[in-house]
Amino acid sequence: RIETPQHPFSEKPDTRINGTIWVKPKVLCEVKFAMWTASGKVRHASYQGLRADKSPETIVKEEPKAMTSKKPDKNKAIKGVNISHAEREIFPEAHITKGELAEFYAEMDEHIMPGIKNRPISVVRCPGGIENQCFFQRSKGKGMPEHIYTIDIKHDGKTHDYLYVKNVTGLVELVQMGGIEMHPWGAQIDKIEKPDRIIFDLDPDEDIPFEAIKLAARDVKGRLDDLGLQSFLKCTGGKGLHVTAPIDRRHDWDTVKTFARNLAQQMVDDVPDAYTLNMSKKKRVGKIFIDYLRNDFASTAVMDYCVRARTGAAVAVPLEWDELDDLSAANQFSIRDVLARKKKKKLFIYPQIRQSLTKDILNAVQ
Ligand code: ATP
Ligand code: MN
Repeated sequence: RIETPQHPFSEKPDTRINGTIWVKPKVLCEVKFAMWTASGKVRHASYQGLRADKSPETIVKEEPKAMTSKKPDKNKAIKGVNISHAEREIFPEAHITKGELAEFYAEMDEHIMPGIKNRPISVVRCPGGIENQCFFQRSKGKGMPEHIYTIDIKHDGKTHDYLYVKNVTGLVELVQMGGIEMHPWGAQIDKIEKPDRIIFDLDPDEDIPFEAIKLAARDVKGRLDDLGLQSFLKCTGGKGLHVTAPIDRRHDWDTVKTFARNLAQQMVDDVPDAYTLNMSKKKRVGKIFIDYLRNDFASTAVMDYCVRARTGAAVAVPLEWDELDDLSAANQFSIRDVLARKKKKKLFIYPQIRQSLTKDILNAVQ
């Protein structure tokens, strides 16, 4: 669709290959390649995917530079936590270091902590950076730092211990342990059987255009609005969107999960070509999977302003509904973008609201 007969360069490149196709320089993609050729072209390039998280104007040809003589700090104290290997690039492509990640989370304290403090969390740890082995951790390990706590929770007759933090120092300690992503539960430890939010996680199949996910998010919002429930939007820093409705802690997991499933089922019944509740890859082809299973005991969803442990280091960002129109991808915000939004006081602040799943609401969605 962006093919053009005219080459877009200031000087016509020397192409000896027949059938060269020129395109308008509108989208940015990542390529892997063997080396630069003498004439400044890339040799053996292979397509690695689009990068909606970067804008073309910021891309320059990087040249090797001499090291500055000043040695970077090996360790760094952030919020009183000693960050070891602070200069290590845990995101090698995005050039983001462990110290920078810890600083970012420390800076976002007020915006992150309300959504994760005193909730059990799963942590995605990548001790050797995102290009090495990463794993989920939800229970305590050996030698836990001081501000990371565990709680034993009994459910269905079984007891298990879960990690949680109370303040930003604990969050920074998680980064010190190699933690990148934190995923809180939908309930707080003092009332763990009563969730305080309902989440619809919209997961697109590979070929779904982002515009379709935006429509789906609006669809969920519209349906919740009709029931009198206010909801909030978040882009995940990955592929999809989350729609979350806070609720008073009055209902058990079964009630909340059943409500979420029933609402999602209504969407599938209304638009079976667009939505599915079936997680299997085969049944999802061409559809959006409405993941209502986030609404369960021990299920988690990514925290606000979480930097995703994926190439590009995109951030999960809560947004105003009127920002949805202009959103171009779920992974469009970088750490720098978020800090710029913070400076401009453009960060979304959750309003305090009280609402619950009244009998009328539960009866309307069966
Ligand atoms: P995307 O927009 O790319 O879907 P997402 O954050 O919604 O990003 P999902 O892959 O849909 O990611 O996963 C949904 C949630 O399931 C995650 O936020 C995480 O909390 C949880 N999750 C995923 N994989 C695991 C796992 N291996 N162990 C524990 N929890 C997981
Ligand atoms: Mn998802």
